[in-house]
Amino acid sequence: MEATESVLWVAHTEAPGALAKGAMEALAAAIRLADGGARLVVGVFGAGAAAAIERIGGCGAQRFLMADGPALEQPRYATDAAAVAALASASGASLVVAPETSRLSRALPGAAQRCGGRVDTRVTAMARTPAGVEIERWFYRQRLVARLTRTHRPWFLLSAGGAEAPWPESPRQGVPVERVEVQAASRTEVVGTEAPAASSQAIRPDADLLLVAGAGWTKQQADGRTHVAEAEALILDFLAKTQASLGSSKSLVDQGSEGQPVLSFLSHLNQIGQTGSTPRHPRGLATCCHGEEPHVVGWRFINERRAINLDPNCGWAQGKADVLYVADAFAVLRRVNELLDQAEPARAVR
Ligand SMILES: Cc1cc2nc3c(=O)[nH]c(=O)nc-3n(C[C@H](O)[C@H](O)[C@H](O)COP(=O)(O)OP(=O)(O)OC[C@H]3O[C@@H](n4cnc5c(N)ncnc54)[C@H](O)[C@@H]3O)c2cc1C
Repeated sequence: MEATESVLWVAHTEAPGALAKGAMEALAAAIRLADGGARLVVGVFGAGAAAAIERIGGCGAQRFLMADGPALEQPRYATDAAAVAALASASGASLVVAPETSRLSRALPGAAQRCGGRVDTRVTAMARTPAGVEIERWFYRQRLVARLTRTHRPWFLLSAGGAEAPWPESPRQGVPVERVEVQAASRTEVVGTEAPAASSQAIRPDADLLLVAGAGWTKQQADGRTHVAEAEALILDFLAKTQASLGSSKSLVDQGSEGQPVLSFLSHLNQIGQTGSTPRHPRGLATCCHGEEPHVVGWRFINERRAINLDPNCGWAQGKADVLYVADAFAVLRRVNELLDQAEPARAVR
């Protein structure tokens, strides 16, 4: 790493004074990059930025920058990009590391442009090597992995969620914080947030377990009939008990637009795979899903994979799952839900 390199970790507050888990993961990456001689600068913007800085004041940074004010309390591209650009300029950093929150995913490329920098998003690893700083990114829907270096500075890096262990809070009182002024005028006003009811919000990126529902849940079963209502009840019951995140195959979510029976709480946002998402849960359980390659490619970052399928020759059996239960998913989920009812709450899967 060049002696002249310096690292800015930049993040926004979530609730006043609070930092997201992803922000702490990106901080861990920034600290590692700076370890070995580079200067580390902390930059936080949003409501309660000073309080958030105190929670990580012992992280070893040489400078602490903050930007706050009513304009920066709202998630909005124009003001977020202005805040990041102002913090990056004030820090003079050659490397800017930020978490991949929805706000910074939008704002970081614009901030990089304003600072004459370059940006890489979805960075899954960062390291110092004899050749300089090296990052890892995946391309072609997670099929190819690349390791990149750049000579251009400043270099903005958006750290992918779940790629690092989060830095633990390291509070320090009386941190010397420098306030950075941000020209944060915008014609866009945030008037509110529309979010699904908490009970139907089944995409939980931080959950330990991903439950995938496949099209088999809506297909004819051994008695020659479909059982969609029972499938819905079993899956919702399981999700309520385990707080698992709900994913889907493409076939299942596509059925809705074809007028076929569907699970009413699923949308394309749940779709995992080549044309869906690539979540990062430690464990995954696929149910009534065949395990075809365009689906399983979305499981790239799931550490432990299990599947329940009636077909012993399904795709999961072809080396794609660690464990395949050749069984009726209706019967298995029914029994698992009963066992979860009996289990100590603390022993239920989070
Ligand atoms: C360009 C392209 C991109 C694609 N992108 C994606 C993508 O992003 N995501 C994605 O998911 N797919 C994607 N696909 C589609 C993919 O190839 C598969 O068609 C799809 O994943 C199949 O969904 P499925 O396994 O749910 O359904 P099916 O193939 O119909 O499988 C249903 C399974 O349920 C099992 N089953 C039925 N009843 C039971 C029961 N009671 N208990 C246990 N098992 C049971 C059956 O044995 C069967 O294996 C893509 C395809 C293409 C061509």
